[in-house]
Amino acid sequence: MWKKVSQLIKYLPGLFTLLLGVACSPPSTPPQVMVAPDPPPRVTEGPKNIILMIGDGMGISQISAGLYQNDNQLNLERFPIVGLHKPYSSDNLIPDSASGATAFSTGRKTYNGGVGVDEDGNPIGTILEEAEEEGLSTGLVTTSTIVHATPAAFIAHVAQRNEFEAIAAQFLDTEIDFFVGGGRKYFSRRSDERNLLAELEAAGYFVASFEKGELTSMEIDYRRNFAYFTSEADPETVQQGRHYLKPASKLACTFLNRKSGEEGFFLMIEGAQIDWGGHNQDMDYMVSEMIDFDETIGAVLDFAEEDDQTLVIVTADHETGGFAINPGSAQGELIGAFTSDYHTAVLIPVFAYGPGAELFGGVYENTAIYQKMRSAWGW
Ligand SMILES: [Zn+2]
Repeated sequence: MWKKVSQLIKYLPGLFTLLLGVACSPPSTPPQVMVAPDPPPRVTEGPKNIILMIGDGMGISQISAGLYQNDNQLNLERFPIVGLHKPYSSDNLIPDSASGATAFSTGRKTYNGGVGVDEDGNPIGTILEEAEEEGLSTGLVTTSTIVHATPAAFIAHVAQRNEFEAIAAQFLDTEIDFFVGGGRKYFSRRSDERNLLAELEAAGYFVASFEKGELTSMEIDYRRNFAYFTSEADPETVQQGRHYLKPASKLACTFLNRKSGEEGFFLMIEGAQIDWGGHNQDMDYMVSEMIDFDETIGAVLDFAEEDDQTLVIVTADHETGGFAINPGSAQGELIGAFTSDYHTAVLIPVFAYGPGAELFGGVYENTAIYQKMRSAWGW
């Protein structure tokens, strides 16, 4: 109401001049017609599935480094819509992965370290939990431990991100259909002596780990929920030979698509170690993880192109390392520099493909990504 009144006041002088003009002089030009501003773009047909891909620590400079070290091409170039989000948290201009992922998963800014909770530490519902309630299938895939801040913010609610055992226990409170990541020890070697692997099996999950063989060699039963642990603690790096992100993400897409039937699915995929390369101020580590994430993006886009009912969003929680590409660099031979071994506050790109992608153009808060995913689904 107040907005309407203030708009009217704003237009009054113009309206007055227009009326005077009409009354006092012969009309030389046709009277102006006030036109209401265009309504915000609406999604005509929403997606069935949403896949949110988070490159942890992946700012514009990490993307640029990946591009130039990869023959000047990335799968990110296949996205028709690009936007920017403001990544700061509720208590710090410099965000962390917990506050960043909580903004995406709940639409609320919280303090650094808060996982699935508001500024006062109260639990708040996540897009993954809401998707479960709506009857959709859900999944998480990461190259960190599955209890690390980014995946945790979609499924757990803890006051501090390092409460790994509590986060693991909260996987049993959901009916998540598919998850792949490291950190098995938080499920099996716990201070409370619970064996969450056995509890997952009792709840109907197929549960397997790295020493049983590669993920792709597992026999898949689409009627059961699926959990696979890639490591006891943190997964290896790409440079050490880790290569599961792309096959795990492809399997997640086909598994959830088949299991969800007509209902659709929500899947979050994280390239976690772009961030770790930035913390280490190690350009080769960072770039190898960036390219691994981009190859995974390519496989997910292939699925979405074929499926035609999937919205794919790629973004980051924040930039890490204050990375720059300095003078003297050439294609494939970058001279990189870091200004920090922590995160920075620069705006973060958002790439979108598929039904509802048009919602993601523009500049907005990181929390808007949650709202836009809901709008795309018509929630
Ligand atoms: Zn970090």
